[in-house]
This record gives sequence, structure tokens and C-alpha cells, in this order.
Amino acid sequence: MKYALVTGGSRGIGKAVCLKIASDLKYNILLNYNSNTEAAEEIRAEIEGLGVKCEILKFDVTNADAVQSSIEEWKSENPDSKIEILVNNAGITKDGLFIFTSKESWKSVIDTSLNGFYNVTQAVLKDMLRSRYGRVINIVSLSGLKGNPGQVNYSAAKGAVIAATKALAQEIGKRKVTVNAVAPGFIQSDMTKDFNEEEFKKLIPLNRFGEAEEVAELVSFLASDRSSYITGEVININGGLYS
Ligand code: NAP
Repeated sequence: MKYALVTGGSRGIGKAVCLKIASDLKYNILLNYNSNTEAAEEIRAEIEGLGVKCEILKFDVTNADAVQSSIEEWKSENPDSKIEILVNNAGITKDGLFIFTSKESWKSVIDTSLNGFYNVTQAVLKDMLRSRYGRVINIVSLSGLKGNPGQVNYSAAKGAVIAATKALAQEIGKRKVTVNAVAPGFIQSDMTKDFNEEEFKKLIPLNRFGEAEEVAELVSFLASDRSSYITGEVININGGLYS
């Protein structure tokens, strides 16, 4: 039984990724979320409608012990299953000018994206290395490449994950485990629902926000064996806003 673990799979980009990997690659899904149980249960039913299994793993990616114990417990209950795909998608924003950024806003944004990457990847990587196959895909951001005013914390967090992606890819390539990052621009989701799309879209050559499903297409390709010679890459998906 092959599984794809998607963190933050209950809404937005993570939800679209779960559906796409289930429908394209026929992997079973381990759907992680943090707080929104109703959203997670709804999406589980939708995924199972595609003919694969979907199990929900509720943990906060910032809590190393919770991540470790939840994944270990799942592994001991499912000795014949393995996680071949990991999508580190969970992320939050707490925007504001740097001079007004509280320690809490700084820490929570970095904890979710960067320490979340560390905690979850640590918990699944050994098995991928042992079986000499795996796909790790980190959802980063345009902000982590270009830097975005009002998002110094988020730019720092995503920039760090980009660097970690490149370094880890070099460490483990020999074991046929690939590590790539996907850097979206403006994508319609709860995270961007308060943004003025009419104003922002003027900056975007394709003249619109992207859809979560468009990001999921790219993630699904990177998660498949069709992407076998791509590792350590950061792939932009931003409507031409930045390259
Ligand atoms: P979203 O709609 O706000 O969804 C965020 C997801 O992450 C939810 O499923 C949420 O779970 C989960 N999550 C948040 N904190 C978590 C934690 N501590 N532990 C476990 N799960 C947690 O966000 P989105 O727009 O889909 O963004 C997904 C990823 O893409 C993020 O990494 C984001 O930084 C990145 N991104 C988004 C955009 C964009 O324009 N939307 C652009 C660039 C990059 P609950 O439902 O339980 O809260």
C-alpha cells in the first residue's frame, strides 16, 4: 500500500494536491491538518470517491513530538504500507511591516514552514532512503525567492526551505529520493481571500490569480515517476509575475 502524505491537506492548495495525486497517481492519501476537522472530513470523502484510501492524521507540524508520535503510530498500525510521497504544504502568513513584527508572528510563521519541514521530513525520510525511492515536494513561495515587503517573516521561512531543498537533494540523490520545491505566486485560497485581486492582477502577465488545481498539476508531476531526473529544483508557478 503506497501512500502520499500531504501536510495542510484540508484546504486550498493542499486539498487540491490530495485530490490530484489520488486521481492521477492512484496513491492512497494521508491527509494532515491542524484545526479544521470539518474541512478534513469533507475532503476525505471526496478522495475516497476516487477509489483510493484516505486516512486523516491530525497534528500540528510545529510540534515535533506530536508529528513523530502520530506518524510512528500510523506506521506501527500499517506495517505493510509505506509513504513514498511527502508534500510539505502546511504554511501560514502573519503579514505586517518588519518593525511591527512581534516575536510571536516571527516565530509562528518560521515554525510552520521551516520547522514543519524539518519535523515531518525527519519522520518519513529514513524509510524512503531504505527503500531507495521517494519524492519530497516543498511548497514554498515567490516571497522566498524575490522577498516581499510586509512579509519579512514569511520570506525568511520560505527562503530557508528553498535552501534546505537544494541541500537535501544533494545529500540523498544517490538513494533515488528527489527533493523539489514549488513556488506559487498569487493563488486563490483562504490565505489570499482578503487580497484585492482586481488590483494585484494588474502586476501579473497572465492577468489573474492562479487556482489551487493548477499548482496541484505541477505537484502531481513532481510526485510521479515521470519526474525522475529532476531534483533540487525550485519551480515557479506565478502567471509570469517573477522568474
Ligand atoms: P490555506 O488555504 O490557508 O490552507 C493552509 C493549510 O495548512 C490548511 O489545511 C491548514 O490546516 C494547514 N496548516 C496550517 N498550519 C498548520 C500546522 N501548524 N500544522 C498542520 N497543518 C497546518 O493556505 P494555501 O493558500 O492553500 O497555502 C498552502 C501552502 O502554499 C502554504 O505553504 C503557503 O505558504 C503556500 N503558498 C500559498 C500561496 C497562495 O497564494 N495561496 C502562494 C504561495 C505559497 P487547518 O485547516 O487545520 O487549519
